[in-house]
Amino acid sequence: MNTYILISDLRKKLNEPGNKNKSVGFVPTMGALHEGHLSLIRQSKQENDITVCSIFVNPIQFNNEGDLSGYPRMMEQDSKLLIEEGVDILFAPEVDEMYPPGEEPQLDLDFGRLDKVMEGKYRPGHFKGVAIVVKKLFDFVQPTRAYFGKKDFQQLTIIKHMVSSMKIPVEVIACETVREPDGLAMSSRNLKLTIGEREMASQIYDVLMFTKANVETSPVKKLQGIAHKRLATNPAFRVDYFEIVDMQTLLPVASWENPENIIACTALYLGDIRLIDNMELFS
Ligand code: AMP
Repeated sequence: MNTYILISDLRKKLNEPGNKNKSVGFVPTMGALHEGHLSLIRQSKQENDITVCSIFVNPIQFNNEGDLSGYPRMMEQDSKLLIEEGVDILFAPEVDEMYPPGEEPQLDLDFGRLDKVMEGKYRPGHFKGVAIVVKKLFDFVQPTRAYFGKKDFQQLTIIKHMVSSMKIPVEVIACETVREPDGLAMSSRNLKLTIGEREMASQIYDVLMFTKANVETSPVKKLQGIAHKRLATNPAFRVDYFEIVDMQTLLPVASWENPENIIACTALYLGDIRLIDNMELFS
């Protein structure tokens, strides 16, 4: 595996004559890699000639300093995992390489309601920060295909919107959420949970499964209220939202019409750690 911290070195490698007509799969991450990330990498390896992974903890997508400074960083271990998976290129830039001092990070793109609801409401500016970094990474890597997890469903929707609106020539591939044996969606943030919090965290999955099992037995709003309450009655949880929305618009649905497009999304704090998860209710 070749590791680059400079854009120029990354481009030099990808521009080598031998790489000219090769397909490039790209997996952007913030590191602290787990099986969720590795599943994206394995799919990219299967579908492309070259697989590029990036590790960059993107400061402009964090809403608070504590979350950014406390984000787990384990480059050496990550690097080993990527070598084991047969990743060809790791791009791990410093902040100044991605955001040269004096340059105002910006992206002239309107996301409509997509970045205002759910996560957007609780983390203003977050998706703008995500879109800016992903656009830059796409420019540098110029991938044929880019792999994103459904675990971050709203992020996936925003990236798809950006790619189609800006006509970026990349195929966005959505990958299934990888879960722990008790159902908790894998996340780098899980490392920060105490043992007690970690045990309780699987209730998020239980409530999503409960919701899925009870569709059509009650109206959408009622079921949403019951699910929200199930989470909120645990005093250790501080629930930001539990919403049942349309997968395209991310807006709340009023009925079970168009079942193939209905997803439940939730975000809550467990101690200081904010976890998100979602489940397609009719798949
Ligand atoms: P992150 O490092 O958290 O920014 O995640 C990098 C990529 O991995 C994103 O596309 C995430 O959606 C994806 N990802 C994170 N956790 C999981 C998971 N449990 N299952 C599948 N994909 C995931």
